[in-house]
Parts: sequence; C-alpha cells; structure tokens
Amino acid sequence: MKMYLNGKWVENEKVIEVRHPYTQEVVDTVPSARPDQVEEALASAERGAKVMAELPAHRRAEILRKTADLILDHSEELARLLTLEVGKALRESRGEVSRAAGVLRLSAEEAGRIRGETMNLDADAGGEGKLGMTLRVPCGVVAAITPFNVPLCLLAHKAGPALAAGNALVAKPASDTPLSSIKLTEFLLESGLPPEGIQILTGPGGVTGEQLASDRRVRKISFTGSHAVAQRLTQVAGIKKLSLELGGNSPTVIMADADLDLAVRSLTATGYALAGQACISTQRVLVEKSVYEEFLERFRPSVEALVAGDPLDEKTQVGPLIREADAKRVEEWIQEAVSDGAKLVTGGTRQGNLVQPAILGAVKQSSRISRDELFGPAVGVIPVDNLDQAIALANDTRYGLSASIFTQDVSKAMRFTREVQSGNIQINWGTLWRADFMPYGGLKDSGLGKEGPRYAVEEMTELKMVIFH
Ligand code: NAP
Repeated sequence: MKMYLNGKWVENEKVIEVRHPYTQEVVDTVPSARPDQVEEALASAERGAKVMAELPAHRRAEILRKTADLILDHSEELARLLTLEVGKALRESRGEVSRAAGVLRLSAEEAGRIRGETMNLDADAGGEGKLGMTLRVPCGVVAAITPFNVPLCLLAHKAGPALAAGNALVAKPASDTPLSSIKLTEFLLESGLPPEGIQILTGPGGVTGEQLASDRRVRKISFTGSHAVAQRLTQVAGIKKLSLELGGNSPTVIMADADLDLAVRSLTATGYALAGQACISTQRVLVEKSVYEEFLERFRPSVEALVAGDPLDEKTQVGPLIREADAKRVEEWIQEAVSDGAKLVTGGTRQGNLVQPAILGAVKQSSRISRDELFGPAVGVIPVDNLDQAIALANDTRYGLSASIFTQDVSKAMRFTREVQSGNIQINWGTLWRADFMPYGGLKDSGLGKEGPRYAVEEMTELKMVIFH
C-alpha cells in the first residue's frame, strides 16, 4: 500500500514489510517515509488546517458519517485485513471494525456540539458592565500516533474527534500494522475530506514519529502506545498539547461474597482477549483466601477450553502475539514467575508466536508479571487476606488504567472505587470493558488526558477568552 501526503498517494523504494503474525508471510509493504516527505506532509497539513477550520461543522459531520458507512460496507474485507496484520482472531477483528464505524458516528455528533459559554465579569471589581465569552477553536495540526494492537479503532478514536473539531490530521500508524489505517484514510478521502485535511505517514517510530512529534507546526499529539515511547515524546515534543494513552497491569479483586460463576466467565474473556495484548487486559487476580482454591478450580477448565490457533479460523478465540520476540518474552516472564515460587496452573507453552493461555497461581508481588505490563495471554492469581490487602496490592504499581472488583457488598465496591488509583473502575466485571463514548484514560504512568469523542474533542481544541468592554 501507499502512504498519503500533500494530496497524493506515494510509494518509496525503501519499504517496510507487514507480516502476518501467524504464518510470517508478507501481507503487503508500505513506504518508509523520508525526512523530506515528513516535511512535505507537515507543510501540507498546515495548509489543510486552514481548510478544515473553514469547513462547516455539518460538512465535517457528513464526511465522518459517510466514512462510517464505507467501513461497514467493507466490513468483512477490513476484518480480514486486520486479522492478517495484527493476528487477532477474526471474530475480534469484526468487533473492531464495527466499533471503528461507531466511533466515527459518535464523533460526527460532536462536530455540532462544540460550544463555549458567556460570563458576566463583574465578580471582580472593575469588571462591571463587561461580558466575557469563551470560544472553542481547533488546535490546527493534530498528530495521531497509534499502536499495533487495535489499529483501526484507535485511529478512529483520534481521526474522528480531530476532524470533527476542524483540525488537519497527520497519522503515523504502527509499522507492524499500518494497513487498516491506510484503508481508513482512503475512506475518509472518498467521503469528501479535503485532500490536505489528512496525511498518513508510514515509517519507523524513532525516526518518522519523532520528526513529527518534535515539529512546532504540530499543535497537539494524541499518542497511544507504550510508556517508554511516551517518556521519549515528553522529551522531544516541546510546548504543545499532549494526550497519552498508555499501558497497565490491571488488577481484579474477587471478594469471598462474589458471584464466582460470573467472575470466571468474565475473566476468561478479559484476561485473554486479543491474546492479552490489550492495554486493559486483566493481568492480576487478587482473590480472598477463603475462595481462592474454589476460584482456581473453576477458572482452570474455563481457560483450558479457549481455542488458540490460526486467527483466520472461525473457531479460534486466541490468536498469536504480534512478534516472536514478544511471545518469547511472555514465555520468559511466566518461567521467571515460576522460579520466583508461583505455580503454573495451565498453559504457557509456545509455538512460534502462539502462547497457550496461561494461569499462574500464588504469584509473588516481586515477579515482573505482578509489576509490569505483560501484554500476553497469562493471568496471575494471588491470594489475599482481606479488602485492605487487595487495595494495597492493586495500588502497588506505577500504572492506573483499569481495575475491577467482584463483590455483592456495595460498601466494599464503593471503598474500592474511592481508594484504587485507576482511571477506569469496573464493578462485577473484569478490567476489559469500554463504551466508546465514555471518558477513557489512565492515571499515574498509564497516561494523560481522556479519549471518547466528546472528551477528545475538548483535548483537540483550544479555548479562547473574549472580553466585550
Ligand atoms: P509502541 O512501541 O509505544 O508504539 C506506538 C507507536 O509509537 C507506534 O506507531 C510506533 O511506531 C511509535 N513510536 C515508536 N517510537 C517512537 C518515537 N520515538 N517517537 C514517536 N513515535 C514513536 O507501542 P506498541 O507496542 O505498538 O503498542 C503497545 C502499547 O500500547 C502497550 O503498552 C499498550 O498498553 C499500549 N496501548 C494503550 C492503549 C490505551 O488506550 N491506553 C490502547 C492500546 C495500546 P513504530 O511501530 O514504527 O515503532
């Protein structure tokens, strides 16, 4: 596929190969952008920002709605493409395609809801007779840097609000999975987006992404990805708006009064969806001691029933990891937890990029699987004495993206909600659940700012204060 810049589809001699994670076959190639092409894209985006700011909101909404229709018209083709590039099970890809269309529709609605407020300024002496007004305006050029795992939907979460708010967008998808993002760009243009309203650059993050992020013409960076890259972005970005959607190692607490059937059903989904490569994947399950053994007894067969394998096979529920190096890392972390004293209850074997869904029992708090982001299909189960200890362990991490509790006691649920440092709190479900319109984002090292079209529009606009004297 080609990249799109300065109103043209462009190919280069130097390319990046996109491989199917299950077979390693090359699915397609994309150009590796040269620095002069990034420069050309930025100059074009600066012109595009003027065009977009003048495009009426009803037209911006119409373009987003039409793009959503095109996505749905091509849903099976897009789902297959997603499975080929990401390796996620076909059923998961179908879900992502339909979410991406939904996010664009939600964004279209927000195009008509951008508003400010008026205020009487006489609360300060000297403000008598003066009227103030806030005006929300686009940032200008927005850069969207996206990760490999949910490439279509997460670009929709950035492109939708950015374009709804009247910005020009420069997208830099992950090098492993750029194809569905290029398709989305095609659909936006086909729907009538002005040619300079969007650019999509493919190239290595450390080069292309960094050139983009450090440029003064970019007024806002919306980044989803790892903590390490986010740290780098904060160093190179300079003075501009920055949203960071980063990782986690999400804890779930199971109290003795929990509905264990519900917990087992939920965690079998939330611990292993996308082969654990989801930022809000359940990674740690903290179970009150009196129900620890019973929970493990029920959880084990449920996880063993998951079908791992070829993601294009309709029966598959758990596909391969994105790269063999990641599958090896997951295997290594599992083995390390076992040598630290944990018990491997099931799974954990690896064939190429595929890791069998694993459960580890009695994982030590010092093991990497308890402390860092695993991004793989393994869940650590840890016995706890009571809610106090569960909350302390849930908070004993630098992350704070999603946390959950299973209990029938509303006061325990409320205490958990207040005391656990996490941007998303789920009561009686695992950590992986999201409605695309809700404010979504992490605390602590899990990020800055919120996504969800309404909240992202706020992040992708500036507020001007106007005073009538
Ligand atoms: P990543 O390695 O951080 O890459 C993310 C994006 O940043 C890619 O497009 C990458 O390009 C680019 N990049 C790399 N180095 C860069 C630099 N120096 N300057 C600018 N851009 C740079 O993350 P990933 O492995 O693709 O994705 C997994 C991570 O994303 C996990 O930590 C996960 O938790 C997080 N995530 C968070 C959310 C959320 O909503 N909170 C959602 C999904 C994923 P290349 O691909 O070319 O290197």
